[in-house]
Amino acid sequence: MLRKLIAGNWKMNGLRHSLDQVSSLMQKVGKAPKADILICPPALLLMEMARMTKDSPIMVGGQDCHWKESGAHTGEISAQMLANAGASHVIVGHSERRADCGENSKTVRHKAEAALAAGLIPIICVGETLAQREAGEAASVVRDQVEQSMPTQSKGEIVIAYEPVWAIGTGKVASAADIAEIHALLREQVGPGIRLLYGGSVKPGNAAEILHIENVDGALVGGASLTAEDFFGIIENA
Ligand code: PEP
Repeated sequence: MLRKLIAGNWKMNGLRHSLDQVSSLMQKVGKAPKADILICPPALLLMEMARMTKDSPIMVGGQDCHWKESGAHTGEISAQMLANAGASHVIVGHSERRADCGENSKTVRHKAEAALAAGLIPIICVGETLAQREAGEAASVVRDQVEQSMPTQSKGEIVIAYEPVWAIGTGKVASAADIAEIHALLREQVGPGIRLLYGGSVKPGNAAEILHIENVDGALVGGASLTAEDFFGIIENA
């Protein structure tokens, strides 16, 4: 069984005082937590968070990266910059970026490749919309996204996060049977060594059930990662 990874995505939330939550989380988790722990803060907080957590088991990651190493791309952040700032992981292809910024699976693949080249672990997000699920297309949409978003030459660890778009930030969670079905298909597709996270309204109250579903190797958590109390409530259930 793969060790679980509980990853928090702060999205566009968090000011400098929010780092107090990280101090508090460090105290709660101690030196030997039950799972690997990652927080992906807004880029401006990343370096300070990495400094704070240096001697703790908490890892820090980016929420996105550009596919190029450097150059004329105003406002963008490269994977190399994230690594240089202390990141170990980077989320790529989050559905909010696929929707808000028009990212497609080809772009996501280039980002994942850039992440690996910089020594980062990409967390590749996939997931169907409500309309696709209702049309019975969830499994095929997810399979195609994985096929097209995965780096072609993968040297290094990769994580996949299955996040049904309709379950993100809505309080609606996919049923255990639906999660099990998609994760089983993903396992078949990518093999045994890749961690498969579930994401979509994971909270302390539902974490135990979700994290014990077969082929669920952790969670990608949005809203409930913003406070130490809630995030620790999820970690404890790993
Ligand atoms: C996410 O941002 O990836 C996510 C799953 O958000 P939430 O937990 O708030 O649904």
